[in-house]
Amino acid sequence: MSKTILIVGGGLAGTIVANGMCRQLNSELRNGSVNITMLGTTETHMYQPGLLYVPFGRIREAELYRDQRRVLDRRVNFFVDPAKHIDVEKNQVTTEKGRTFKYDYLVLATGSRIMPQNIPGMAEAGHWFYDIEGARKLRTALNNFEGGKIIVNVNAPHKCPVAPLEVTFMLNEFFKGKGMSDKVEITYTYPIGRLHALEPVAHWSKPEFDKQGIKYETFFNTESVNPEKKTIRSMEGVELPFDLLITIPPHMGQQVIIDSDLGKGGWVPTNTKTLHREGSTNVFVVGDTTNIPISKAGSTAHFEADVLIDNLVSLVTEGAWAREYDGKVFCFVETGLGTGTYVWFDYKTPPNPGPPSQMIHWFKLAYNRLYWLSARGLL
Ligand SMILES: Cc1cc2nc3c(=O)[nH]c(=O)nc-3n(C[C@H](O)[C@H](O)[C@H](O)COP(=O)(O)OP(=O)(O)OC[C@H]3O[C@@H](n4cnc5c(N)ncnc54)[C@H](O)[C@@H]3O)c2cc1C
Repeated sequence: MSKTILIVGGGLAGTIVANGMCRQLNSELRNGSVNITMLGTTETHMYQPGLLYVPFGRIREAELYRDQRRVLDRRVNFFVDPAKHIDVEKNQVTTEKGRTFKYDYLVLATGSRIMPQNIPGMAEAGHWFYDIEGARKLRTALNNFEGGKIIVNVNAPHKCPVAPLEVTFMLNEFFKGKGMSDKVEITYTYPIGRLHALEPVAHWSKPEFDKQGIKYETFFNTESVNPEKKTIRSMEGVELPFDLLITIPPHMGQQVIIDSDLGKGGWVPTNTKTLHREGSTNVFVVGDTTNIPISKAGSTAHFEADVLIDNLVSLVTEGAWAREYDGKVFCFVETGLGTGTYVWFDYKTPPNPGPPSQMIHWFKLAYNRLYWLSARGLL
């Protein structure tokens, strides 16, 4: 009997898992003892980290997209047909188009989504770069900006833990380059009592902000935005005026996770090491969809995917377990338009950002192009 591995979600994690398994299961795919099926929402695959560069005109939009069928190993059965209901008792997923897919192993890789609409006034008055429409709109706003107060407003939870810091540093340099430093005041707001959830990153970024004259307001949990008055208000009672609001909106998991009763807010309770959905032995969770209390990042998704590939291949071919996820995350951090640093950490080792350099910035730019090899499982 053929074993079916069903992957729901064809973003970063789902694609790496699918391609990685194909590379290791050559003979099983050839003799038909295994089949790999993926359900996705679109024909295109987007490289989301590239969105950071769109507002600054530093990447062409076409570089962000590839045809998903070309990114995927041709042996993956790919359906553009979003999952509508996931039934982990019956081992089946039903889709928007009315199909039913049975599985032996299920991989949940549906990612996360931004929810500006969850904060009154934010969708009307805010700019963001977490989707292509927002990034385009922000590009126009930056090009037309004549000076005034910019607020970079961070809400939790959100994916890419360092993107808010990166955009703040990049904005500062962008306006410096235009000779507008004396006309622009940037204030960064953060929900807890320091500049970043990761303590060493908070300690590193504070003197960098001070040096560059970037203001900050911590313990700022956004309550509402007033589009007419152009003010943003926190639950702590602080009100800040702005001329341009750039927000990292709060995120949620996908509706199908909520509707299938698999996790509050769309986050699936997940074993931190085995990546099993809590309570299941044949359902795995990977990427932003987990409720694991570490950064929601592409690198997290990639390291988790590598572990999952080894475990699924080992389970299917040898009936045994291979290895556990150690919480590894690696993120490049842009510290301007021409310099960068990086952080890496795991469950046991805290991050330790080093001094910024041009070389690390170039590495990040190179990785932006190499991503397509990494998604194919070649890197
Ligand atoms: C602006 C920005 C900058 C970033 N920068 C970095 C960075 O520098 N470094 C880094 O490591 N990470 C970065 N990230 C984060 C990174 O892109 C995500 O963490 C990563 O994409 C998560 O992978 P995923 O597979 O879990 O989710 P995704 O890549 O979002 O994939 C989820 C997929 O599931 C699909 N899906 C949703 N619902 C359904 C359904 N019902 N049925 C079927 N499919 C469904 C979606 O269409 C999507 O294709 C950045 C993100 C953004 C937005």
